Amino acid sequence: MTQILHIVGGGMAGSEAAWQAANMGVNVVLHEMRPKVETFAHQTGNLGEMVCSNSFRSDDDEQNAVGLLHWEMRKADGLIMTTAGEHRLPAGGALAVDRDPFAESITAKLKALPNVSVSYEEVTELPDEGQWIFATGPLTSPDLGAAIQRETGAEALAFFDAIAPIVYAESIDMSKAWMQSRYDKGETEEERTAYLNCPMTKDQHEAFIDALLAADKTEFHEGETAGYFDGCLPIEVMAERGRETLRHGPMKPVGLTNPHAPDDKPYAVVQLRRDNALGTLFNIVGFQTKMKYGAQADVFKMIPGLENARFARLGGIHRNTFLNSPTLLDTQMRLKSKPNIRFAGQITGVEGYVESAAMGLLAGRMAAAEILGQDLTEVPQDSAMGALIHHITGGAEAKTFQPMNVNFGLFRPVEGLKGGRRGRKDRYKAYTDRAKEAWSGWLTQFA
Ligand SMILES: Cc1cc2nc3c(=O)[nH]c(=O)nc-3n(C[C@H](O)[C@H](O)[C@H](O)COP(=O)(O)OP(=O)(O)OC[C@H]3O[C@@H](n4cnc5c(N)ncnc54)[C@H](O)[C@@H]3O)c2cc1C
Repeated sequence: MTQILHIVGGGMAGSEAAWQAANMGVNVVLHEMRPKVETFAHQTGNLGEMVCSNSFRSDDDEQNAVGLLHWEMRKADGLIMTTAGEHRLPAGGALAVDRDPFAESITAKLKALPNVSVSYEEVTELPDEGQWIFATGPLTSPDLGAAIQRETGAEALAFFDAIAPIVYAESIDMSKAWMQSRYDKGETEEERTAYLNCPMTKDQHEAFIDALLAADKTEFHEGETAGYFDGCLPIEVMAERGRETLRHGPMKPVGLTNPHAPDDKPYAVVQLRRDNALGTLFNIVGFQTKMKYGAQADVFKMIPGLENARFARLGGIHRNTFLNSPTLLDTQMRLKSKPNIRFAGQITGVEGYVESAAMGLLAGRMAAAEILGQDLTEVPQDSAMGALIHHITGGAEAKTFQPMNVNFGLFRPVEGLKGGRRGRKDRYKAYTDRAKEAWSGWLTQFA
């Protein structure tokens, strides 16, 4: 077997794909344009860099679809999940990591494999020959984007989501704020105190919402559409949808007791989460925004405890490049018009670190199997992996296709279980049990 697998993009998906294919015995060349060519969001030349939040979201593999995806990736010796476990930070029920050591470790592990080489260069064409995976992400370089458009004829869609601001811990007033996870969730004291809470009275909340609504926002570029992804709405857009919306979302005051005033129930609570192992940086959870920088500092300093906050990074808006996968890709993520090319990661229309890495895992295994002459059975739709790939390669409505997070709505119903909120716990457990069995079964063909 001499055929090389070329993987373009060493982010979440490309790194995972390289790991999986190499561990199946295939020779891999990973092409990464950073640090020679930069994107506006990446800050290092590391593979597997997390561009914004340091969280892989819920780690609950019984009641949460993202947690289930974690489980399935661990079961398949996933590089991203295993390494995340090694650099875990306390974050209640979520899997948050220390981002720099995490990415350094991903880079070192891949470079240590004898059949992986990393070529630091930008790829700007879709080659006619050889086996290729393109995992160039939401910030695919413009020249490559143009080459993809020439091949597919389909227009890459652009939409905005937003990054949350990061605050220096030492600038937070702890005589007003306190550390506590909602409902004291977590196994250890560290987990139970993973969040930093800033309480608001009703008057403070009203003034904050007024300021949010009045703040200067970044304008959209000409020709770009403001099609926000619902899971990542900027806070000011949430506030525009209703003055109480944030109190039912990232600012909900439930499950928390203010030790500075135990008898006063806060009207709203802003939560911050540790952003590095040292505990020197905290991000404002769920506060992605497209407010202008000057306005952000003024508005966020209205939050009790953050009056003197200093920001290591303010929030911002960004572009997302993704294919109309339901029309362009087959069930193995190959480009129908050029089957020596696969796509993986966020460019296929999944959304988020975990989902992107998951699609990298599948693409890596599928490409390696093809090179090795192995036929793979279809990824079972009842697994989280299968639910996602089925969605993007056919299950989704092509005309209105937008990026998708993994969620139980993508799963086939389990017969005989109660619907509605009451039956939710049993239903989710049934989904996750069934998924684990299906995924474990699919993996046996690699043994
Ligand atoms: C600003 C921003 C903030 C985000 N915040 C979050 C968040 O908080 N949580 C979350 O889950 N997701 C977030 N996302 C989405 C996030 O990018 C994806 O979830 C994840 O990183 C996608 O993984 P990927 O491997 O597909 O792409 P990436 O991780 O972006 O990796 C793609 C890689 O391809 C390289 N590349 C691009 N073009 C070329 C080329 N022509 N030749 C060679 N290399 C190339 C890039 O340098 C990059 O290393 C954010 C995205 C952006 C842009």
